[in-house]
Amino acid sequence: MNKTLIVGAKIFDATGDRPFEGDVLVEGNRIRAVTRATGQIPQAGCQVIDGKGMFMMPGMTEGHAHLSFETVTSTEDLITPPPEEHTLLTARVAKVLLDHGFTSAWGASEAKLRLGVAVRNEVNAGRLPGPRIRAGSLEISVTGAMGDESKLHNPRQGPSIIVDGPEEMRKAVRLCCREGCDNIKLDVSGDPFYPNTPAHTTPMSFDEILMAVETAHSYGRRVNAHTRSIGGTQACLRAGVDVLYHCEYSDQRTLDMFEEAKDRVFVAPTVSLFHSIVNNEAAPNGLTAEIGGYMGIPALLEESIKTHTELRKRGIRHVIGGDYGFAWSRHGTNSRDIGFFVQYYGYTPADALRCATRNGGLLMTMDSNEKLGEIKEGYLADVLLVDGDPLADSSVLLKADRLVMIMKDGQVYKNATGVAQRRAAA
Ligand SMILES: [Zn+2]
Repeated sequence: MNKTLIVGAKIFDATGDRPFEGDVLVEGNRIRAVTRATGQIPQAGCQVIDGKGMFMMPGMTEGHAHLSFETVTSTEDLITPPPEEHTLLTARVAKVLLDHGFTSAWGASEAKLRLGVAVRNEVNAGRLPGPRIRAGSLEISVTGAMGDESKLHNPRQGPSIIVDGPEEMRKAVRLCCREGCDNIKLDVSGDPFYPNTPAHTTPMSFDEILMAVETAHSYGRRVNAHTRSIGGTQACLRAGVDVLYHCEYSDQRTLDMFEEAKDRVFVAPTVSLFHSIVNNEAAPNGLTAEIGGYMGIPALLEESIKTHTELRKRGIRHVIGGDYGFAWSRHGTNSRDIGFFVQYYGYTPADALRCATRNGGLLMTMDSNEKLGEIKEGYLADVLLVDGDPLADSSVLLKADRLVMIMKDGQVYKNATGVAQRRAAA
């Protein structure tokens, strides 16, 4: 069996312990041994990687991936590309994520039904570079809500499946399951980009959500929900939705419901979108902070800070990522969320990094007996070596050339440790 020994790195194992210097042995696709001193594991028969001076951490998980979004500025960018070009684009994005330390991508939704499925299959077969992928579906929404862009005089459809009533929902979810999607995406609440249904509204009914969850679960699939409103979030928690996105608005009862469900659900705050708008990062694309003000974005950001700070304190499993792939939040910058978790939600740098690694691994292995997301014996070997200390400054993870070794499933995808060590010695 293929053996790799990484020696002398400072190991952040994501268990909650402080980093320590040691060696890690990988056999096949699994971590076989972790030592808290170096030189104890025999090197014979191993490919040896010198990790001295490097920071080792588990590979990261993007918890709300849109692999088919690339520098999107409007829904036209999701609709216009023909499926052939769009598939190539999706494959490119998968590679960008892996190049930036994301060894897993939990699909939120895609612009066409089979984009995530097709790329997942190629990556899993080892024919394309990319993270472990759980393929997202199209968004499923209801008439007049987020994603329904048709008008009486103009039947142009948005990039969503529009359903009304539980029976249409059942059919839509079954369609997504038939076509191979792992994760079904529901647009439960409104959204500031859709003035007819602002963020605090809840256009999708409880019966529709429940039908989606029961149907998806009966196929062994999982359900993601776009939910910003109190009514939407409570309905998702009651109906058994697995992954909740955004969740800005909350009240005491909602927080208590989250706490009751904390061993079952995962939550991605996806704060990057609001951060970019409020800080004028989307201004070159016409979405200035002033326009964001009219859309109510600063107030939503305030709600996000309140809710997710409280969810952190209650031990809810936050995952990073979300809504990268826009012109103002390009793929490859997804790990900015680690800094945002510290800045907005009061996480320590180490706990924010555990959201990116440990919690992501728990999410990805929800339906398997595998373990992922920590540097621990028996875990799947997704491992990064970083030239720098992400606990001191997480922005080092944004620089692909500082990720000097990337291993996914025990396979060394990239190894530039020699280059980094020569630079350090010079
Ligand atoms: Zn999204």
